[in-house]
Amino acid sequence: MQFGNFELFVISDGTFRLDGGAMFGVVPRVLWEKLNPPDPSNRILMGLNCLLIRAPRDVILVDTGIGNLYNEKFASMFGVDKSTSLQQGLANLGIRPADITKVILTHLHFDHCGGNCMRDANGGIKPTFPNATYYVQQGEFEYAQDPDSRSKASYLAYNWEAVVASGQMQFITGDREIVPGVEVEVTGGHTRDHQIVKIHTNGRTACFLADLAPTNLHLKTTYVMAYDLYPKTTMEVKERVLKQALQEQWLLIFEHAPRVRVGHLKELEGRIQVESMGVGG
Ligand SMILES: [Zn+2]
Repeated sequence: MQFGNFELFVISDGTFRLDGGAMFGVVPRVLWEKLNPPDPSNRILMGLNCLLIRAPRDVILVDTGIGNLYNEKFASMFGVDKSTSLQQGLANLGIRPADITKVILTHLHFDHCGGNCMRDANGGIKPTFPNATYYVQQGEFEYAQDPDSRSKASYLAYNWEAVVASGQMQFITGDREIVPGVEVEVTGGHTRDHQIVKIHTNGRTACFLADLAPTNLHLKTTYVMAYDLYPKTTMEVKERVLKQALQEQWLLIFEHAPRVRVGHLKELEGRIQVESMGVGG
């Protein structure tokens, strides 16, 4: 999709499943189960949508999906389905891993940075994108090194160790322009240093919301994941960001929506909804 000076592509790294109750926090099951029916283990289907930004001088990837370094136990626990993959999606666009110049990581949970690294010929682990600088918030990285017991299962060090070792990880602090027109904004909420990515061009804005609003069903202020470490921050920031997104008709990308991956907001009878554009690949 052409977006001013940029080309944007949403690339699916497959799907996985998380507990529906955890995904909707305090919202009762009767309110979400019809929109997102849980399986017999009470898990709901989750997309793994990455964003590729072709900028004038850079090829930028936002988040890297769930990857393929996990074992069978992990795959069955999370119902991982890789019938589409980031690697295949890039290949379909004619993009080689070596062409990626920058990788922006919204945070370091395994479903956002799982494709950072891959197996090498000797069974070791190496960065998937050999020429890319990877960007992460310093505070997120520090927390990922020593998470509390509530977050431990979400942080898998093999997803970033090789990137740090190769010198490709760049630590940033606070809001920052990565290339002209592409900036990160720290939202906190989901994790203390969770960040979203905004793309500005010719008076228009696109926004990769990451876990600020993981799916189009998380637009309401109170629809906050139980995983969020600072739920009140999520509520406040989400309300502010979505209000601006509605007013300025931002293009929104939902990382975990299995179907409605991209859309604009519209207000219908006082309720904010997404007008899906169904773009993806
Ligand atoms: Zn997360």
